[in-house]
Amino acid sequence: MDSIAYVNGSFVPLSEAKVSVLDRGFLFADGIYEVAAVLDGKLIDNASHLARLARSVGEISLALPESLARIEEIQKELVTRNNLVSGLVYLEVTRGADTGRDFAFPKGVKPTLILFTSAKDIVNAPSAKTGIGVITVPDIRWTRRDIKSVALLAQVLAKQAAAEAGAGEAWMIEDGKVTEGGSSSAFILTQDDVLVTRQNGSEILPGCTRKAVVALAEERQLRVEERAFTIEEALAAKEAFITSASSFVQAVVSIDGKKIANGKPGAMTDRLREIYVDFARKTAV
Ligand code: PLP
Repeated sequence: MDSIAYVNGSFVPLSEAKVSVLDRGFLFADGIYEVAAVLDGKLIDNASHLARLARSVGEISLALPESLARIEEIQKELVTRNNLVSGLVYLEVTRGADTGRDFAFPKGVKPTLILFTSAKDIVNAPSAKTGIGVITVPDIRWTRRDIKSVALLAQVLAKQAAAEAGAGEAWMIEDGKVTEGGSSSAFILTQDDVLVTRQNGSEILPGCTRKAVVALAEERQLRVEERAFTIEEALAAKEAFITSASSFVQAVVSIDGKKIANGKPGAMTDRLREIYVDFARKTAV
């Protein structure tokens, strides 16, 4: 069934949702995106996603065409129109379509805003039970990864390499340390029960799920260290996992074909996943 999308003020069937070939998102990847999860027909941690959207557009001097409050109304209306119970709401804003292809910002052009949804049973995903393998790839991205830009070619190549290797994610490596996953934040639990994830900065995207999981772990007196870690450390760890809006907390059980611990999701990972799902349901809007 064709679902409903939002394009610049109108709700239209997804197959009819179109933007211009001159759109700067298409020509220059001159745009920002966000992905928020939906559970029980409600948005998860959406304030955090909207705050990151506002920051990302600010970093590239792009004015949102609608207020954050209006954007949340559009997200909710789309969830309702599509009867979405569990899944994702994708949102993209670009610098719009000019009359030609000039690199510098166009004047008097309205930004493009599009949204669509996709159904996904995140809570009962089979990989949550089995865990996933990851492969390692060099991090070849630009140096402003804190901006959630639609320029995702490096991640497309990384995740394609993972898919070809039968892995669920690619961990990107820079200067011998893991930056993050192709579309997720990376965590390990050391043998002495310290949760380690890279500190925020321009090297990684500040994950909304990462932020919530760090806070939830600290509230439960778990020691958290925000620092970079190596693959050797990850292979010697008790547990490893990734976080993202589209997977919540997802166990990682091998790296480049080498098992972490017994090659099964760890107890702390399973617990943090439960805690996150509980937080998600309680704070959904
Ligand atoms: N890191 C990268 C590069 C991502 O693309 C994503 C999500 O798409 C994440 C981390 C996780 O962020 P969030 O938890 O906000 O979904």
